[in-house]
Amino acid sequence: MSCAMVYWNRATDDVYEVIRSEMPAGWTLITPQKDTPEACRSQLGEADFLLAAVWAIGEEELRAAPKLKMVQHQGVGHEKIAKAALKARGIPLAICPAGTTVGVAEHTILLILAVYKRLVVADTKLRQGKWLQWELRSTSFELAGKTLGLVGFGRIGQAVAQRAHAFEARILYHDPYLKERLTVAAAWDAREVSFQDLLRQSDIVSLHVPTTDATRRFMSTPQFEQMKRSAILINTSRGAIVDEPALIMALEAGTIAGAGLDVFEQEPIKPDNPLLKMDNVVLTPHISAGTVDALREKMRSVFANLRRFVEGKPIHDRVV
Ligand code: NAD
Repeated sequence: MSCAMVYWNRATDDVYEVIRSEMPAGWTLITPQKDTPEACRSQLGEADFLLAAVWAIGEEELRAAPKLKMVQHQGVGHEKIAKAALKARGIPLAICPAGTTVGVAEHTILLILAVYKRLVVADTKLRQGKWLQWELRSTSFELAGKTLGLVGFGRIGQAVAQRAHAFEARILYHDPYLKERLTVAAAWDAREVSFQDLLRQSDIVSLHVPTTDATRRFMSTPQFEQMKRSAILINTSRGAIVDEPALIMALEAGTIAGAGLDVFEQEPIKPDNPLLKMDNVVLTPHISAGTVDALREKMRSVFANLRRFVEGKPIHDRVV
């Protein structure tokens, strides 16, 4: 069967090539010809399938796609997709945990270590001819023996716990929606605590929750004030979870000691964002799951799911 799939995200030609290499024979990949979703809407007319990544899929996009049969997300955060409109048209939406969980968990560990070892400052200064062999020592730390508090203990939170346990961190987690007690948590000595206890006891607070009405900006001034002054915040979840002006104030005032951020309230980050001038934060451009390993694994999983749909079989990780 020949199908047309629109990749609803502006990427690079080498990324499109990886996607094409995993696509079933006879299928067509339509890639955005312009930089913004508004300018590309007319390309949705031919879409049997939409592969979602960063761009939102709102009601206008859905109206522009009369042949649409299914939306497949290449990641897991689906807050920018008009689910009610999809449901009304009977169009399913599936997410893709494969290729996401490991990448984000590894990136979380990377950000913790980078903040703790002042990696960006050390590297930048070395390139400028400054050899800071001693100057960073009193503000550098080991992960071993520290308390890592995971807010959200789903796929990614657990994968971070598994890795942090190997680094000999003490692990706390808070997740009031877990349906069953996790036996895996015992293997990593991970202890469930209240949100307040997690904030008070953790040296590192790391966020792994979805964007919902309950989690939007739920890390704000009162939460930063409960954290240790020596604590750091890691956010590889979504920018909307953190009240960014409050975080900037907390970092400037020394309420918390540092941050590792892959996601921001506004992406791309604005050039005048004060975070860009702080040397106690490490920033990455929403690339937690951004490896070619993850992309290949995602595409294998994505096309296996779309094939299931074409063959009339139940699809995996269905959200709508
Ligand atoms: P998941 O659904 O497996 O886990 C999320 C967990 O959060 C669930 O166990 C849920 O019970 C818990 N939760 C929900 N509301 C909560 C609350 N108020 N307090 C505490 N816990 C709460 O999802 P996942 O695969 O682990 O992904 C988590 C999030 O990571 C995604 O929703 C997405 O926003 C983000 N993400 C970011 C990137 C990136 O590139 N930076 C990539 C993938 C996912």
